[in-house]
Amino acid sequence: MSTSLLYHAFGIRGYTYTRTAFVGGTIHFAIDQGKKPLCCSACGSSAVHPRGRTERTFRTLPIGRKAVVIHFEVPRVHCESCGLIRQVEIGFADERRSYTKAFERYALELSRLMTIQDVAKHLNVGWDLIKDIVKRDLSRRFAKRIRSAEPSLPGVVVWPPDRI
Ligand SMILES: [Zn+2]
Repeated sequence: MSTSLLYHAFGIRGYTYTRTAFVGGTIHFAIDQGKKPLCCSACGSSAVHPRGRTERTFRTLPIGRKAVVIHFEVPRVHCESCGLIRQVEIGFADERRSYTKAFERYALELSRLMTIQDVAKHLNVGWDLIKDIVKRDLSRRFAKRIRSAEPSLPGVVVWPPDRI
């Protein structure tokens, strides 16, 4: 395992690989912020001061039949602009999610080929986690369609679509 493989195989870019552990059939990779600059996750400001770290784990793509978990001590910073202490932004996972974006994409691809229960069983996660991933994808796509179909006048619905 290397920092380069972390990027090419798991989509985790800019972080430093530190160690691997094998526990009960699960592969654990630890990563570090490395030289990645610290910024506020809310306003993006770099006027921040370190305030410790919070250990978090993220499910990522499996290797064969083995689950892979990423361990990351997320730096916490005090932001001068916001006046608050927050975790820094994580490039490979969405806010408050316990899985990586690569895991999410993989689960979505599988969900197009099999049921939510099958995907959950294959990835060895709870059914509700896959349901959450599928639901978030649907609302993102729905919101995008609504935005692109939005007429210039508020409250005016364009119907029928041009192609009918
Ligand atoms: Zn801020």
